[in-house]
Amino acid sequence: MAIPFNRLAPLYEQHRNEYDEAALRVLASGWYVLGKELEAFEQTFASFIGTSYCVGLNSGLDALTLGLRAMGIGPGDEVIVQANTYIATVLAISENGATPVFVEPDSFYGIDPARIEEAITRRTKAIMAVHLYGQPCDMESLTALSQKHGIPLIEDCAQSHGASFRGCITGSFGSLGCFSFFPTKNLGAFGDAGAIVTDDKVLAEKLRMLRNYGSRKKYYNEVCGVNSRLDELQAALLQVRLKHLEEILQERTTIAEYYMNHITNDAIILPKTRPQARHVWHLFVIETESRDTLQHYLEQEGIQTQIHYPVPPHLSQAYAHLGFPEGSYPLTERIAKRTLSLPLYNGMTEGEMDQVCRTVDAFRV
Ligand SMILES: *Cc1c(COP(=O)(O)O)cnc(C)c1O
Repeated sequence: MAIPFNRLAPLYEQHRNEYDEAALRVLASGWYVLGKELEAFEQTFASFIGTSYCVGLNSGLDALTLGLRAMGIGPGDEVIVQANTYIATVLAISENGATPVFVEPDSFYGIDPARIEEAITRRTKAIMAVHLYGQPCDMESLTALSQKHGIPLIEDCAQSHGASFRGCITGSFGSLGCFSFFPTKNLGAFGDAGAIVTDDKVLAEKLRMLRNYGSRKKYYNEVCGVNSRLDELQAALLQVRLKHLEEILQERTTIAEYYMNHITNDAIILPKTRPQARHVWHLFVIETESRDTLQHYLEQEGIQTQIHYPVPPHLSQAYAHLGFPEGSYPLTERIAKRTLSLPLYNGMTEGEMDQVCRTVDAFRV
């Protein structure tokens, strides 16, 4: 039986009546953008994270982009970001005309705090931490660095809904926590959606203005904004999904633990989990010398995998103009060559988990 990399329908089926009820309520309401569904979701999500404000936006990329803009980051400014992130984190920096300054990751795929100080200059305006694959960065060191240098921290939580470090949830550490609710994320909508959480009232108000053409009052535009609003339908559906998030994360953890306990192939390096952190397993990422051979073999055996990510941003064609040759960020480049993400989705059966483990264990280089 073939095993896909991901399946989204089981999550809908699990609570189908609740999603249907929410969607139909919005359709019948006659109000589709910037209404009470969004307000309700923003309140619930802010209190879930433990921040005072949440601003719903169109996507995770918009959350990152508008977040930097609201902080006044633009041309001439530098933003420190981990080199091994999804390109959206970097696009948010360049979209504002600022310069990304790449820093290599630690052994948990988060930005390495020990390498940040050498990257700080007078132009550094923010440090971005990406809780990649669902595992929190070293928030103790990052918070200390941010305070020592007076440089704000921005969290990219697109993969880390519900993840925590020493009991504090990701998104609550930085000046801003940026979230994506893209359908495949752990807290996924039924289309594009995103949000920012913050304790800063001024930033929250700026973001509300920016997402709505730069106006606080209709047709009175204070700044050049954009159209980036989380619509009522997605907000209502997300409210249902958020109610079940803990259950979603528990199931993902069960699958990850199954893999951890049953994959015994010496050629495979299993993910390392950071002490005192809760990993929420957005992705289950293994490493191996012979990644491409393993991926091809699994494909032949009917098991779909993905690579997160095959081309690091500094080597992508989009950033060729930055002029980074191969070898600039060796740890990041090594990760791009060695990592492989195994199937992990809600609704996965024990038979499927077992098939993945047995097939991976039968792999010979
Ligand atoms: C998905 C993702 C984004 C972008 O979110 P979208 O909603 O797809 O725009 C940003 N950063 C990371 C780490 C992501 O995984």
